[in-house]
Amino acid sequence: MKRPVLYLVVPCYNEQEVLCDTAETLTEKLTQLIAAGSIAPESRIAFVNDGSRDRTWDLIVECARRSTLCAGINLAHNEGHQNALLAGLMTVRPYADVTVSMDADLQDDADAVDAMLEKYAVGANIVYGVRENRASDSFFKRFTAETFYRVMRELGADIVFNHADFRLMDRRALEALAAYPEVNLFLRGIVPMIGLSHDIVYYSRKPRLAGESKYPLRRMASFAWEGVTSLSARPIRLISQLGMFISLVSGGMLVWSIIRHFMGETIVGWTSLVVSLWFLGGLILLSIGVIGEYVGKIYLEVKRRPRYLVRDFVGLEESGEQRETKKS
Ligand code: UDP
Ligand code: MG
Repeated sequence: MKRPVLYLVVPCYNEQEVLCDTAETLTEKLTQLIAAGSIAPESRIAFVNDGSRDRTWDLIVECARRSTLCAGINLAHNEGHQNALLAGLMTVRPYADVTVSMDADLQDDADAVDAMLEKYAVGANIVYGVRENRASDSFFKRFTAETFYRVMRELGADIVFNHADFRLMDRRALEALAAYPEVNLFLRGIVPMIGLSHDIVYYSRKPRLAGESKYPLRRMASFAWEGVTSLSARPIRLISQLGMFISLVSGGMLVWSIIRHFMGETIVGWTSLVVSLWFLGGLILLSIGVIGEYVGKIYLEVKRRPRYLVRDFVGLEESGEQRETKKS
């Protein structure tokens, strides 16, 4: 088999503390893979600068000047990890036979790329990097993350347990991904839908090299909600079921109070009345809110705005048609 051209796609947002170390580690990895003959010498590391406000882009440009193995894609705004990743994958698509996406903080083990390439060589189009354990996480992060995967599965989203965005995708898988035009992007949910031949590589995730997590609790919660609502309409169904249940219960209560009325006992106390009023009011507001979330999503989808805009490149040949100025 011909040696494949590999592109490592690394989204970076305010990563000046780790970027140089990451570039060094990944360049070493690539050099070693090229020397071993597992990948072609035209392989690259593509850093995607997701509108960082620090020196990240300057450092990427510097790396690209120093080593031909490094390249950079500069986005015009901060679009979030998922869109930055998509921008990277779609930009390198014309050049790469196979891509591996990973985080800039080296939490994903670069050495697992060897095993991924082996699975690719025997026919996998997609290889998921799955964490062996969560020993490097705090109890809180572990608990919230695992609950997230369980809830997602309960809600009918087919996501790979303990797999984040460390994954190999070959050209066929990228072509399939390009056909999903949604603006509310949740790659972990979409990639398994592609359904090509896939495999898993286990790795142990390390603590962040330096700098801070860009996903504090608030952002993680909104990411989880984004995941649920972009993959499943089940929350709306749950609301209808709850509505049905409450109607049945209140129907029963009505019958009961009529019986009691004819037995001469009138219902005493207004507490139960007020409580149930507030309860139902809250429930109705919540339900409208959830439905509103979906309507909002539809609004964003129909507008068909671009998911990202590439400002400039370094280390990649520029060509007008590869420039993503509108939605890919
Ligand atoms: N990231 C990004 N855009 C953002 C936030 C994060 O490209 O708006 C990148 C970030 O630089 C890192 C990856 O996404 O490479 C994962 O972020 P982080 O390590 O902060 O998340 P955690 O691993 O803590 O969940
Ligand atoms: Mg991280």
